[in-house]
Amino acid sequence: MPATPAWPPASLPRLYVDTELADGAALTLEGAPAHYLINVLRLPAGAQVKLFDDRTGEWLAELADTGRKRVSVRVARRLRPRDPVPDLWLLFAPIKRGRIDWLVEKATELGVARLMPVATQRTMVDRLNLERLRAHSIEAAEQCERTALPELEAPVALDQALHDWPGDRALYFADEGGGAPLAKAAEPGSAAILIGPEGGFTESERETIRAVPQARPVSLGPRILRADTAAVAAIALWMAAAGDWGEAANR
Ligand code: SAM
Repeated sequence: MPATPAWPPASLPRLYVDTELADGAALTLEGAPAHYLINVLRLPAGAQVKLFDDRTGEWLAELADTGRKRVSVRVARRLRPRDPVPDLWLLFAPIKRGRIDWLVEKATELGVARLMPVATQRTMVDRLNLERLRAHSIEAAEQCERTALPELEAPVALDQALHDWPGDRALYFADEGGGAPLAKAAEPGSAAILIGPEGGFTESERETIRAVPQARPVSLGPRILRADTAAVAAIALWMAAAGDWGEAANR
């Protein structure tokens, strides 16, 4: 079953919890989720919410008791299991705050399974706040009805990411220098998309990438896209050609 939700979306508040959910389970929410339910939505005891845990799926739950800073919740029943996610990784060079937040949010909505920041020779951003990026990813998953969060990896050097690249995973390398159109090149199966930094890849990096047997240089059209636009465009093209958008469109 595709990860994309049915339409129209149900209107109950929907939250991720980092606790395994089960029939009848009681849990206490604190921090940002509690603040959202108590102070933003002002939900009373008895109100229903949807919870998902990235492990067992999505559950209907009821607020049992609301305090000023915490809320206790009782899980009623499972609404759906954890959805399978198309096996697409996104390798991207870190870009500046704001743009990278947007990229992570959109990549989550579009359905990637794994987010992998890679440091390239022209990468200008040397420190990443993974906690902030994870919060953006969770918020996007809550909003778009994903039941599975994308994995968010710590940054690694491009060479390291390419070293021992899995033999069964196609590497679609977005090369502004040219390549096959991604819409035509994308094939079903395990895949990754590699997007360069704002300054592009160096010639030596291009050679290293092209030397990976699974690498396929692909084009995203005749215009040079910003890195964040390129990432989103590439994911959309792959999802439509080889991911779960075809099935979702027929639901
Ligand atoms: N400064 C670079 C240049 O002019 O060559 C442009 C880099 S672009 C802003 C950032 C990344 O987006 C590129 O490294 C590439 O991965 C991807 N990209 C942008 N436009 C693309 C296109 N038309 N085809 C393929 N990849 C593209």
